[in-house]
Amino acid sequence: MSIPTLIGAPFDGHSSFRRGAAAGPSGIRDALNSSSTNSWTEKRRDVAVGSVVHDAGDIDAGGQAEDVAIDAAIDALLERGGRPVVLGGDHSITYPIVRAIARRHGPLHILHFDAHADLYLEYDGDRFSHACPFARILEAGLAASLTQVGIRTMNDEQFRQVERFGVEVIDMAGWHRGRRPAIQEITYLSIDLDAFDPAFAPGVAHREAAGLAPRDVIDIIQSLPSTLRGADVVELNPACDPLDITSVLAAKLVKEIVGKMLED
Ligand code: MN
Ligand code: MN
Repeated sequence: MSIPTLIGAPFDGHSSFRRGAAAGPSGIRDALNSSSTNSWTEKRRDVAVGSVVHDAGDIDAGGQAEDVAIDAAIDALLERGGRPVVLGGDHSITYPIVRAIARRHGPLHILHFDAHADLYLEYDGDRFSHACPFARILEAGLAASLTQVGIRTMNDEQFRQVERFGVEVIDMAGWHRGRRPAIQEITYLSIDLDAFDPAFAPGVAHREAAGLAPRDVIDIIQSLPSTLRGADVVELNPACDPLDITSVLAAKLVKEIVGKMLED
């Protein structure tokens, strides 16, 4: 049994439109620690950092390439018996996280919430852009399966990638009509906060109208297998987050993910 461990990845160097997600980890921690609420999940588990939940602090790149630093930090966390719950950071962080976990445990069954498929071959000349992590993950054979939920920005290039790699896409129209992901085998969860409708999560760089509601995603988190090997919550941009609406949502997601892991 490995210990759910928060770890911040305060990086936004691969953002394509507006930076600011580097402040995401501190924004999520502020919301988690706010006296406006308590540290319990909806399923009656106390997830305060202490004996059953750890916080490894933020990853320090220390002059290394960010992806090398992230990979090494996740590897070290796994080595000492932690289960990573990573606070982003822009979505580029997911590739090195998944790489480190899959090296130990084999290819992962990934559930990915996002407005965007993040499957570009490259974006703005950057193969490691936050618009590309799932292309890199699939090319490297790190995903046993990839299921994407909430997508509403597909273009021809991304449709080609979906066909090439056999990605299961439940776009917003499909979700609205009642399609739901198969979750029995899921071993990794990646939540880009722009999957949510901007009314619920304005604090992101790429607001995309007509998205998911928080209860939709929390219901799925609470239904996931407790053997989840890791998770990330990415793209919180505190500079665009009026009234801390999005950081409070991100903190709630983190709590429910940790609570799920504690069921194991
Ligand atoms: Mn994304
Ligand atoms: Mn996105």
